[in-house]
Amino acid sequence: MGKIQLMDEWLSNKIAAGEVVERPSSVVKELVENAIDAGSTSIEVFLEEAGLSFIQVVDNGSGMDESDAMLCFSRHATSKISKEQDLFRIRTLGFRGEALASIASVSKFSLKTSDGESGIEIQLEGGHLVDKKPGSLRKGTDITVSQLFYNTPARLKYLKTIQTELSHSIEFMNRMALAYPNIAFKLVHNGGTLLHTNGRGNVQQVLAAIYGAPIAKKMIHFSGESKDYKVYGYASLPEVTRASKNYISIFVNGRWVRHYLVQKTVIDAYHTFLPIERYPIVVLYIEGDPYLTDVNVHPAKLQIRLSKEEELLPLIEKTIRECIRNAIHVPIVEKKLKPARPQTEQMNIWKSSINETKLEQIVEKLSGGSDVVKESEGAENVQEERGTTPAVLEDDWVLPKEEFQQEPQVEASPIMEEEEVVEERKEPFPQLEIVGQIHGTYIVAQMEDGFYLIDQHAAQERIKYEYFKEKVGLVNPNERQTLLLPLTFHYSQDEMFILKEHREALEEVGVFLEEFGTNTFLVREHPTWFPEGFEQEIIEELIEQVLKSRKTDVKKLREEAAIMMSCKKSIKANYYLTKEQMEALLEDLRKAENPFTCPHGRPVMIHFSTYEIEKMFKRVM
Ligand code: ADP
Ligand code: MG
Repeated sequence: MGKIQLMDEWLSNKIAAGEVVERPSSVVKELVENAIDAGSTSIEVFLEEAGLSFIQVVDNGSGMDESDAMLCFSRHATSKISKEQDLFRIRTLGFRGEALASIASVSKFSLKTSDGESGIEIQLEGGHLVDKKPGSLRKGTDITVSQLFYNTPARLKYLKTIQTELSHSIEFMNRMALAYPNIAFKLVHNGGTLLHTNGRGNVQQVLAAIYGAPIAKKMIHFSGESKDYKVYGYASLPEVTRASKNYISIFVNGRWVRHYLVQKTVIDAYHTFLPIERYPIVVLYIEGDPYLTDVNVHPAKLQIRLSKEEELLPLIEKTIRECIRNAIHVPIVEKKLKPARPQTEQMNIWKSSINETKLEQIVEKLSGGSDVVKESEGAENVQEERGTTPAVLEDDWVLPKEEFQQEPQVEASPIMEEEEVVEERKEPFPQLEIVGQIHGTYIVAQMEDGFYLIDQHAAQERIKYEYFKEKVGLVNPNERQTLLLPLTFHYSQDEMFILKEHREALEEVGVFLEEFGTNTFLVREHPTWFPEGFEQEIIEELIEQVLKSRKTDVKKLREEAAIMMSCKKSIKANYYLTKEQMEALLEDLRKAENPFTCPHGRPVMIHFSTYEIEKMFKRVM
């Protein structure tokens, strides 16, 4: 008797699951893509423990009738393609008909669905039907996947930390929100809302929901066309940069894809505009006949082949480059400066929507070049700013309060004041494992996708800078230390005069000057947190700053004080660290608000992805 047998369907589903369902975010991806294919306008995703214990996706799409609901778990069950030709003009996200079968085979699965006429509820465990009953008539589908991989423990072992797994889902949802601005997306993790878009079709509002309004304001619209392709999207001004290429999102006919050459072309479009190792935030939409885009390359469908690259790539580069070039030549923009808002209100604004028409006008002006954005009222607060940085009116990002009153609280970066350095929303810090140190200068740490080189000096500067920034931000009278011998500082008469005038500003950063005769100041005490051994030097440098600028710009002085202090005593190059010291350094870096650049704007860590390495070794094309 022959040895070959046909596998039973249950076993083959489980094997297919290994390909399609790699981790919780793959489930989120498949379910959300199904919801999109079903024509939903609202998709809500709820996760517990990054999806490992619970994933729920609720949509308001077409739903299924009873027979489809029973059939959708069979392998290769799909409503999306029926003949071979269809494969070459795919317009839906799914088409293989394997996702539900695979997911159900490795989880406890519940499906509630209704096409508006009948409703059904189905429960499966490990792919086997355990319950089936009539359900609600609310049109749409509600799928719950619990205890993912409960029957494939080997797969569980490969999963990373909750944070890493969650970051995959967040990244995916962000990209879907950008791909489908007409769909309202919601992502909730352990009860906290991580993303909420309004589905009103405005990409810049989605950008604001993802990156925060200050960044969204600095993204400029571009568009261009050739014979076969249309490209458009939003590109960040050169002043907004990131340490990773991950912020370049590419969508081909609505599908998010990875495409090395397209990504490289986008980066090339910024050539000379950005410092080395810094990358822009770009959302690029490419549209062309589905015949030109072959999606059937990989089961996860992230990689695609594009035809006529020689036409497409120059179109992308030229369109983005021209947009950036025009945008950075905006000469004068008037803007309104406002006092800081209370924190809670700032958070509301972050997740509030944007006044569409006004925003469009402003963005048009910014990308158009020479027009001045006019301010009509509030003349007492209006200042003029000359420079190359376009600014927009804050009010245009604020909707009346009622618009966002019912929204739940979300973790969000507050909107900064116009004059402040715009901090990005915190990128997730990678899960790193220290491999070693090279040249007594760089720490080598590997992670899931490749490795990082971390400049130990820059890293420590960043950590110290954030520490001092907080300290200098609010000089606490209880944190003061009296010196046994006062420090003395000598200045000329005119300098003494300037310093007396700006004494309060200096006190704000912890320098307490006491006049002593005509040419001398004494300092009897200083904050306890002044870097030890550098007290005299720091005070001198801060005084220098005031003498040089002759202005009382406390905010700037604080910023300079923090940078100055962070430079002192940071570990220099050529200094060998123990593994414990390296670990402590990375742990502190992880806690930093922005661990990716030093206070001077240089990168702290550089990522080498597995893909890049494999490309260098010509293991992949
Ligand atoms: P595919 O998406 O590749 O067709 P799936 O296994 O993901 O395969 O889904 C199988 C079928 O189940 C789909 O073709 C679709 O008809 C149906 N389906 C799945 N999810 C939904 C949903 N959220 N709303 C309506 N129909 C759905
Ligand atoms: Mg699908």
